[in-house]
Amino acid sequence: MPARRTPRRPAAKAPTDGRPGGGTPGADAAEPADPIEPIVSRLLAAIGEDPARAGLARTPHRVAKAYRFMTQGYAQDPAELLNGAVFREDTDEMVVVRDIEVYSLCEHHLVPFFGKAHVGYLPKGRIVGLSKIPRIVDAYARRLQVQERLTSQIARALDQVLAPRGVGVVIEAQHLCMMMRGVEKQNSRAVTSCMLGLFRSDARTRAEFLEFLR
Ligand SMILES: [Zn+2]
Repeated sequence: MPARRTPRRPAAKAPTDGRPGGGTPGADAAEPADPIEPIVSRLLAAIGEDPARAGLARTPHRVAKAYRFMTQGYAQDPAELLNGAVFREDTDEMVVVRDIEVYSLCEHHLVPFFGKAHVGYLPKGRIVGLSKIPRIVDAYARRLQVQERLTSQIARALDQVLAPRGVGVVIEAQHLCMMMRGVEKQNSRAVTSCMLGLFRSDARTRAEFLEFLR
């Protein structure tokens, strides 16, 4: 039977994959459909589209994969990410990683916001592998977020694991929910910051950090 694209029907034997009938067109029989897929099909129909037309046939499958990727942060424990890469080091110079790309989803509209994160800390006997800092940013960004919470979660994760003398995080981002709809402001950026320890209490430390971001 070469007709791969015909809807699957229970044959003599009952289906064993537990998939509800009328599954997503084009989904692999071997792989059970992601529960996101039928929801996307319904969304397509609800906005007035025809989920069965050729261009959309695999869209629920693709959207499900995309959302799994964009929300994979829920399955990541940032503290665990950092723990394997903390080193004793007697430096007391500020460490700054700037211009880290951020892609996240606004929890109010499920629409992306994106921009740059700048992360700094003042070590107190412990440093973390530099490549871990963007990974922390991703672990929190790949969830439904508001920019303010994203900013403070990154700062608090570093503060907890490194117990440094201070941490500063600044994020500048553009929100598609503002740009494409609502106020339609194309060039506005939201800037959020979270300063902990000396970054909060000592104006010179904070100024030194902000100087790095110029
Ligand atoms: Zn929004």
